[in-house]
Amino acid sequence: MSPGAGADVVVVGAGPTGLLLAGDLAEAGADVLVLEKRFGRSNLTRAFAVHARTLEHLRVRGLAEALVATGQPVDRLQLFGSATLPLTGLDSPFPFVLVTPQHHVERLLLERALDHGARLVEGVTVTDLTQDDDGVRLSGVDQDGGTTVTEAAYVVGTDGHRSRVRDALGLDFPGESVIRSLVLADVRLGSPPPDVLTARGNQEGFVFVAPFGDGWYRVIARDARREPDVDEPVSLAEVRDVVQRVLGTDLGMGETRWTSRFHSDERQVRRYRVGRALLAGDAAHVHSPAGGMGMNTGLQDAANLSWKLAAVLDGRARDDLLDTYHDERQPIGAQVLRVSGGLIRAALRRDPVTRAMRDVAIRTATSLPRVRAALVGRVSGVGLRYPAPAGSHRAVGSRAHRGGTDLPLSPARFVLAAPQRLLAAHHPAAVVRTVETDPAAPAVLVRPDGYLAWQQDPGGDDAAGLARAAARWGAVAPGQRPPGSAPR
Ligand SMILES: Cc1cc2nc3c(=O)[nH]c(=O)nc-3n(C[C@H](O)[C@H](O)[C@H](O)COP(=O)(O)OP(=O)(O)OC[C@H]3O[C@@H](n4cnc5c(N)ncnc54)[C@H](O)[C@@H]3O)c2cc1C
Repeated sequence: MSPGAGADVVVVGAGPTGLLLAGDLAEAGADVLVLEKRFGRSNLTRAFAVHARTLEHLRVRGLAEALVATGQPVDRLQLFGSATLPLTGLDSPFPFVLVTPQHHVERLLLERALDHGARLVEGVTVTDLTQDDDGVRLSGVDQDGGTTVTEAAYVVGTDGHRSRVRDALGLDFPGESVIRSLVLADVRLGSPPPDVLTARGNQEGFVFVAPFGDGWYRVIARDARREPDVDEPVSLAEVRDVVQRVLGTDLGMGETRWTSRFHSDERQVRRYRVGRALLAGDAAHVHSPAGGMGMNTGLQDAANLSWKLAAVLDGRARDDLLDTYHDERQPIGAQVLRVSGGLIRAALRRDPVTRAMRDVAIRTATSLPRVRAALVGRVSGVGLRYPAPAGSHRAVGSRAHRGGTDLPLSPARFVLAAPQRLLAAHHPAAVVRTVETDPAAPAVLVRPDGYLAWQQDPGGDDAAGLARAAARWGAVAPGQRPPGSAPR
């Protein structure tokens, strides 16, 4: 084994997903090692939209305020053409989408992970893994071409869409290619568009423009006339030309600070867990940038997985608690692929008649409050929930009210908010913070990721249900879990 290379959990890949996971595990007291093939920080600006639910998760980790200060809050979602969805009524402390470059998210998550004691080793490319009942063994190559070996109880592949961990597990990545060639450019604009967000398409292609709030704008464009190979460099003239043909103006485009060309796939792995190995983020699912949900979904995968891994490592829950990570997150990933796929396919319509019909259909649909709320809830993440286990209160699995702003949430602790009588009966555990509530309010046990594990309506008496939920999810002291109790 390479020196110092054993850990409770090895996280492969220091992108946003891996960094949030590593920080949470370290905060919960686990020994966590992150292996990253790159050196230094990425200044990639792939993701630029941070949605409300992700901001709620970052608030709990003390990072939301600093992140919001780096970007521009936008109070509506731009679909295409004139179709927008207002976010002002969102039941969240963050009723907006934050436009900010992905590297700010990564910087804040890295600093937090290191502060909590996570170890980062750069320049190691993981090449293979094997596992047995006792643990996993990862092989890698360092910057000098030397072989590295790392052992851990669990490994999480957060190594992006070309995941080596996924390949080593023998998992395929079924799906299809959606866009063969898309241009990305961060540019300065002399004459920015009047709307905060602009999304337009015609026979010439498709253009999306969003502000970063510091004078720079993100342009995403598809030229319907040509689909160059992704390796062909992007020129300012090319971006200007397609923007001019789609918007009728080049927006006074000046310098660029970053450009890229990529093709977009829609793929999802069928299993998020194979024994002691788990997949999260782009390693598990990829889709088009429409809706800006990729990084957001990866961060929410990590927030779902981290406390479960910590509970299993701590002996507070059985290993099969980790199966609930797949059960909860795989359907959410599939839903994100459907929503993003629907948006991009509608946006790419070229024929004027079909586009006009599309615009009427979307205007009609989004004028219905229920449709609007469902779409906003899905894209912002605020409306997502997990299934309630059989026999539990129907609210179980839903997000704590307003993302738990009125509760002392933490990624390493549960919160039990209940009247004094129930608190006194509950077995105390270091991983549970208690809050005394009015007997007229519902009593709740909230998971570290902010979803309800148990609820009792006012006047109810479900102390037994609380004990079952606490045992099921690991809200107990190590060793306190009743023998044979299953996570579900
Ligand atoms: C044009 C575009 C726009 C987008 N816009 C948005 C948006 O607005 N909002 C949004 O939420 N998402 C957006 N996304 C998606 C978002 O960028 C990704 O979903 C996000 O980066 C995924 O994070 P991740 O941590 O899962 O993977 P990555 O960011 O891909 O990180 C993986 C890490 O693993 C490392 N790695 C890979 N292989 C190995 C190995 N074998 N050994 C060690 N290390 C390895 C890599 O170097 C990398 O650091 C966009 C994507 C694109 C392309």
